[in-house]
Amino acid sequence: MPDKCPICKQLTMDEKNVSADFFTFRVKCKMCGSFDISSPVVSSEQYNDEPYYLVSSYIRRKTEFEKGTYQIVTDLKSLEKSIQKPNLNEQIDMILDYVSKSQKHAADYILLQPLNEYPIFYCKNSQEFVFLLSKSSELEYFEFNPDSKITEKHLRNSGMTEIISLRLNIKGIQRLYELQKKNVDSLKCFVAMSFANKYDFVFDDGISPIFIEDETIKKSGISAYRVDKDFTNLSDQTIVNKIIAQIKSSRFVIGDFTGNNRNVYFEVGYAMGMQIPVILICHTKYTKRIRFDLKQHPFFFYDTIDNLKDQLKAAIKANIKL
Ligand SMILES: [Zn+2]
Repeated sequence: MPDKCPICKQLTMDEKNVSADFFTFRVKCKMCGSFDISSPVVSSEQYNDEPYYLVSSYIRRKTEFEKGTYQIVTDLKSLEKSIQKPNLNEQIDMILDYVSKSQKHAADYILLQPLNEYPIFYCKNSQEFVFLLSKSSELEYFEFNPDSKITEKHLRNSGMTEIISLRLNIKGIQRLYELQKKNVDSLKCFVAMSFANKYDFVFDDGISPIFIEDETIKKSGISAYRVDKDFTNLSDQTIVNKIIAQIKSSRFVIGDFTGNNRNVYFEVGYAMGMQIPVILICHTKYTKRIRFDLKQHPFFFYDTIDNLKDQLKAAIKANIKL
């Protein structure tokens, strides 16, 4: 086993590393969390000192929040490329969420260690994490523990090695409440549907135009998004990560079950699990093929494009807060 972590390239691995089997190392890294990695991947990283900080963050979050061991199945370079770095606002929201989950009571101060916790928030290093904290406190999301020596004023000059004690302020609590109402600021409607060319017209002539034609919907600024059809040169994992990132950041999802496509079930199921509103549609020809587990949800059945448009407009206005 190498002495440094193949992902973050730091000497932060647990000494009790065990080999899961002959070809696989089970690594517990203080920065990246727990993961299984094959020995050829480890060897190929031996002389590369470039850290994969997005992979590090991705696995660390899995370890922190899902409590499992992540299985790395592709090479690290492709995995890094497939992960989208969240924007500044999303990173700040992640901190708010983390602080709130760490607090037992709203009045509790929690301790943050920038040097150890920066990967949880997709930061490249502890400086970036401290920068995010100072931006969050400019927004008055946090209040610092007056008994701690790190106050807002000292934050920027702190040695990054110090422990920061803070809790959510009223604005932070309000922001979190807004966030729980799922992607209220998002201008994207994710469309889950079959990629077969014969259904293109459903998106092009039916779904997409309603976001321009209907005055109320148009005012919201939301538009329909369909994952690019061109997946050549992309690994399966990259495609899945792309889709998940897009669904996660959508205001709502339209799922068209015409053609009874399996991916649509996955995408709609994922959105439902994330508590993102979904509107389910299906051509009348395919009504009977909808699987039982979804039948309890309201469906809008259409037989013509005009009929689809009318129903969708009504469904969006009735179900989505525009
Ligand atoms: Zn690591």
